[in-house]
Amino acid sequence: MSESLSSIEPTIDFSAPGEHNGFLKLPHSVHRSAMGYIPIPVVSFKNGTGPVILLTAGVHGDEYEGQVTLTKLVKEITPDRVNGQIIIVPMTNFPAAKAGLRTSPIDDLNLNREFPGDPFGPPTRQIAHYVETVLMAMADYSFDIHSGGSSLHTITTVLFQGGKSDENQQAKLAELVTAIGAPYALELPSGGVKGNRASMSAAERQGAIGISGEFGGSGTVTPESLESCEVGVRRYLSHLGVWTPETPPPAVEPGYTEFLDGTAKNLNVYAERVGLFEPIAQLGDRVEIGQTAGFLHHPDTPWQAAEEIKFEAAGVVMSKRIPGLAERGDGLFQLGAPIAT
Ligand SMILES: [Zn+2]
Repeated sequence: MSESLSSIEPTIDFSAPGEHNGFLKLPHSVHRSAMGYIPIPVVSFKNGTGPVILLTAGVHGDEYEGQVTLTKLVKEITPDRVNGQIIIVPMTNFPAAKAGLRTSPIDDLNLNREFPGDPFGPPTRQIAHYVETVLMAMADYSFDIHSGGSSLHTITTVLFQGGKSDENQQAKLAELVTAIGAPYALELPSGGVKGNRASMSAAERQGAIGISGEFGGSGTVTPESLESCEVGVRRYLSHLGVWTPETPPPAVEPGYTEFLDGTAKNLNVYAERVGLFEPIAQLGDRVEIGQTAGFLHHPDTPWQAAEEIKFEAAGVVMSKRIPGLAERGDGLFQLGAPIAT
């Protein structure tokens, strides 16, 4: 590995076999601590010759399913059942995760829009740069765990970037996505997710097979969302042969995962003015163009008619807004489009 420009220093040696716990120390000199650092927790399990896996959560700090899943997993994995290396970062944007916020309270940046980062930038950009150029550069596979956060709830969905020029690589990716056993898999444009600023594009740039996933949200965890996340991660690691849990995850029925297209037009539904949001469609509903999605009500002028919001594409409802208050520009629903067969 070439010398990194990053100021971030790990307290653990990633090349050492066994289990190692510590921190990625991001120098942070502030009023209350002139010589301070931001302590981003990291764990490495290494044994044998299998692939290197990077598991990240807390890229958005208000998405808790991945943070809880990875925290539980750290206590369960033992190096003797590992073949390869599993690197776990449960609070990737640590300041955001510590504050329970999507974006960092230090620099207001959204880590999943900041790759490839900047080693001399504000903390979120430094984290993006380190994750991409050091951790993803080491990894053969990366799984970045997300959910809807505080403002959305998502149905369990694996996200991946399609359109690989190598057919063999594309087939392996589809196998991996299917092995997780989520009800849905959403294909996003290759190399073009959020202008290449998201973690999957970072993985692709570094030659790792990167996927992401949505496992609930609403700013909390539910038994259902946590279960889907925990089972999904166990299946992912088992499929890659990098971890053999004492209790294997339940098998996935062939054909269980429905693949959807996230590249079609008009999949997102937005509020076009201020109002109180009444969702009509529910997660997992199959909707048609023109079908009622919900209403925006105006209790401040109760004599005013509610706005009916309609879907502008056909598809499956993947996520919906949680807070009742909405204004122009707020996302209310997101669809996945059926893939023509
Ligand atoms: Zn997220």
